[in-house]
Amino acid sequence: MEKQKRFFLQENEIPKAWYNIVADMKNKPLPMLNPKTKQPITLDEMCVLFNKACSEQELNTTDAWIEIPEEVRNLYKNYRSTPLVRAYGLEKALDTPAHIYFKNESVSPIGSHKLNSALAQAYYCKQEGVTNITTETGAGQWGAALSYAAKAFGLELAVFMVKVSYHQKPYRRSIMQTFGAQVIASPSMSTRAGKDILTNNPNYQGSLGTAISEAVELAMQTPNCKYVLGSVLNHVSLHQTVIGLEAEKQMEMAGEYPDVVIGCFGGGSNFGGISFPFMRHNILDGKTTEFLAAEPASCPKLTRGIFQYDYGDEAGYTPMMPMFTLGHNFAPAHIHAGGLRYHGAGTIVSQLIKDGLMRGVDIPQIETFEAATLFARSEGIIPAPESSHAIATAIREAKKAKEEGKEKVILFNLSGHGLIDMTAYDQFISGDLTNYSLPDEVIQSNVDQLEKIIK
Ligand SMILES: *Cc1c(COP(=O)(O)O)cnc(C)c1O
Repeated sequence: MEKQKRFFLQENEIPKAWYNIVADMKNKPLPMLNPKTKQPITLDEMCVLFNKACSEQELNTTDAWIEIPEEVRNLYKNYRSTPLVRAYGLEKALDTPAHIYFKNESVSPIGSHKLNSALAQAYYCKQEGVTNITTETGAGQWGAALSYAAKAFGLELAVFMVKVSYHQKPYRRSIMQTFGAQVIASPSMSTRAGKDILTNNPNYQGSLGTAISEAVELAMQTPNCKYVLGSVLNHVSLHQTVIGLEAEKQMEMAGEYPDVVIGCFGGGSNFGGISFPFMRHNILDGKTTEFLAAEPASCPKLTRGIFQYDYGDEAGYTPMMPMFTLGHNFAPAHIHAGGLRYHGAGTIVSQLIKDGLMRGVDIPQIETFEAATLFARSEGIIPAPESSHAIATAIREAKKAKEEGKEKVILFNLSGHGLIDMTAYDQFISGDLTNYSLPDEVIQSNVDQLEKIIK
């Protein structure tokens, strides 16, 4: 029988609602706190910084389904459904009895899953009469997605781009500028937060935490301006569930159900996006699927961080979130997976780890590039360095299945392509790439500085 390789949905089968896993969680995440009063943050306080619709979604613990606005769904149709692909080539290369599937979010016009939330957030801002938005970007994927989304809804956008990426990935900057965004290397001298950091450390190459502080500060000082975030927060993962909801239908078309679901992990949005719709069946229907979040060994908040209230940014402007964290002052090594260089995990995911519904896996940088190269050669797609963490984890699982002689079904999210990350591949090919080990003392000294709100 001829074997089907790719599975697509019709336009009318694209999900009409996102899935809010918090409504189904037995133990809800602890509340976010106002950093000044240390009281649970209110809707009005959220709305100072974020648009109202996303603030409501952020705090929504009761509605499992939240309708996708018609305008957003119409833009989704430009690239969704994304294909679910059976990775026959990779299976063959590994000689594994496992069935490996990946959801290919790299086919979005911007090259990653980030557009799924960018379109939604830009839409809500426009609806509420906002004219300007600010954000941060690491590797530039989020900034690129939001630049296009801002243009689609007629908003002005300023992007603070982590300095190391600004120089490592100049084409992402060009992409943002092509869509009409203003791009600033962070830390910059244009904000208080940036100035303070540069005064202490003039050569600081930036981090997502610093860039967030700058973007938040500019939003607070600009009239009719909101701040928009590309990961970590609940509403961002919510928007990304369109990935897993599609994948659920597509796996059904393939006649299979995953034994293990894998996503790479920066702040948790693509991981949550692919996982939560399947995890709902673990919570509600007694399924026993495993969920693995793949993080860099050099930024291991899930596997080696502590669970504590922490800020989302370096300067401490954001609400305090209960999360697995390495401390908001943590300066991760300059690995190529820029989108995974973030100190903390979202509040939902942090609670799910505590409840044993998922776990983190940490992968050294060189293993991710070995996995990426094998994947490229067997499937014909150059993966993003971030996504390669998920691929490396899938390969570990497939090898395990071979050792155990099991026909395991593995699903991972290919969060983006790496065609703009070829400098990283160049370094790998020429043998210049290194693994970074992170001593316990470094983690300890960072988390020791956190106020111990959770005793
Ligand atoms: C931003 C990014 C990530 C990490 O962010 P999450 O919110 O954890 O998904 C992963 N992969 C790609 C391609 C990205 O651009």
